[in-house]
Amino acid sequence: MAERFRNYIAGEWTDSASGRTFENRNPADHDDLIGEFPRSDEQDLSRAVESAKRGFEQWRRTPAPLRGDVLRRVGDLLTERKEEISRAMTREMGKVLNETRGDVQEGIDTAYYAAVEGRRLFGHTVPSELRDKWAMSYRRPIGVAGLITPFNFPLAIPTWKMFPALVCGNSVILKPAEDVPHTSTILVEVLIEAGLPPDVVQLVHGFGEEIGAAMVEHPEIPVISFTGSTAVGSQIGSVCGRMHKRLSLEMGGKNAQIVMPDAAMDLAIEGVLWGAFGTTGQRCTATSRLLLHDDIHDEFLDQLVDRASRLTLGSGLVDGNDVGPLINQASLDKVESYVEVAISEGDEIVTGGKRATGGALDRGYFFQPTILRGVKPGSRLACEEVFGPVLSVIRFSDLEHAFRINNEVKYGLSSSLYTTDVRASFRAMQDLDNGITYINAPTIGAEAHMPFGGVKQTGNGHREGGWEVYEFYSETKVCYVDYSGKLQRAQIDTYDI
Ligand code: NAD
Repeated sequence: MAERFRNYIAGEWTDSASGRTFENRNPADHDDLIGEFPRSDEQDLSRAVESAKRGFEQWRRTPAPLRGDVLRRVGDLLTERKEEISRAMTREMGKVLNETRGDVQEGIDTAYYAAVEGRRLFGHTVPSELRDKWAMSYRRPIGVAGLITPFNFPLAIPTWKMFPALVCGNSVILKPAEDVPHTSTILVEVLIEAGLPPDVVQLVHGFGEEIGAAMVEHPEIPVISFTGSTAVGSQIGSVCGRMHKRLSLEMGGKNAQIVMPDAAMDLAIEGVLWGAFGTTGQRCTATSRLLLHDDIHDEFLDQLVDRASRLTLGSGLVDGNDVGPLINQASLDKVESYVEVAISEGDEIVTGGKRATGGALDRGYFFQPTILRGVKPGSRLACEEVFGPVLSVIRFSDLEHAFRINNEVKYGLSSSLYTTDVRASFRAMQDLDNGITYINAPTIGAEAHMPFGGVKQTGNGHREGGWEVYEFYSETKVCYVDYSGKLQRAQIDTYDI
């Protein structure tokens, strides 16, 4: 009998109003059923919104430092439960334990950062242009925030959204990806145990086109924060534009690592192995393009292929495995179809290229780490997000050429340059058209206290993480206090100095 998980609405763990459910299975082993989760719809959402509105009225009046204290306790509880949560996450998402431990740690870091921000929601006090008058601004919460998250960081991404939203005084409704509902269930348990008032957080499970779309359309959810694919983000953007909602979009990437001839080669190889095949390539910041200078192309590629072909595939729960499964059958089919596209575009598969099968691998969605040689700038493999363990290798002749190739895709999340030349490093920081540039480090590795996000079709100008996200979850309110006792007219009255 499958374990039955529930939504969290109006302070209770509850089934969907329709009674419908969906299954959550281990992507490394289809036979391992994690549980059944509620398939929510508008009825569940209506109850969640009513509760969240009550929660907002209570929470917005709670002093921000006290809101921060709750987040500090959340950080403590996540720390206590780190190993248990990491294991649950690997079981439902697939990435190896070391990575899920990192995912939980990112949530812990975000909690402690948020706790302190409760004492630092700065406004400004500036001189008024009129006598005996003060001019000030402060940040006030907005209302109910609808949070829609992807499968690849089951804990970290919900915390990036929830914790700042909560510290700013909003209430939240979380709709996690349907492939990873268990981790977010644990997260909400932790929030309640830490003392968050029950109406302030709601958890609704279900499918994107059902409960996710309903959240975006709901008139009493004024803030939407979405992380996921650019295709879905575009649809959400058009609805939010029509409804004048505040919207943060974090979407796809086609990130490049550039290697110059003067780079430390071993370091650059370690970097690309981690960037391209960590999380089975399912990171928005994954290295999916490797740009190699003509002078080192062949030697670098030979060494890389040797290392990549020795990566061990298998369940992320088993020590020693380097690469876990893809998230589901659709993802496996998509990766496989991109390899067919690569062949049709004339690319050469130098390692991998096939589903990984045999023994326990047959029960999961495993795909061999794959490297394609001779990928042409402008081709589909050079431009489209694959979201799997597929690395496209592209040659370049000089730094300018590499920058042009990096910048010609529609995405702009992350980039990386390996070099020992300080001038090239600063040129990269200046001219690579991305939200994040790493020097001598792979395209992945964001830290929780720095702003995170991308340009072009990766985002819509907002950032998660760091100090910037607090702007997104609050409105600036400006207040003037005139204690002159007379009518003073800005821009009209003048004074002798
Ligand atoms: P996805 O777009 O399929 O789903 C993301 C979320 O949106 C899920 O919760 C899903 O249920 C929901 N959803 C789907 N259709 C919806 C709709 N019509 N209305 C409302 N919600 C809907 O993405 P995914 O497969 O879970 O994640 C992979 C994608 O996420 C990749 O493109 C990756 O680059 C991107 N991503 C971006 C970042 C970033 O910060 N830039 C981080 C992680 C992942």
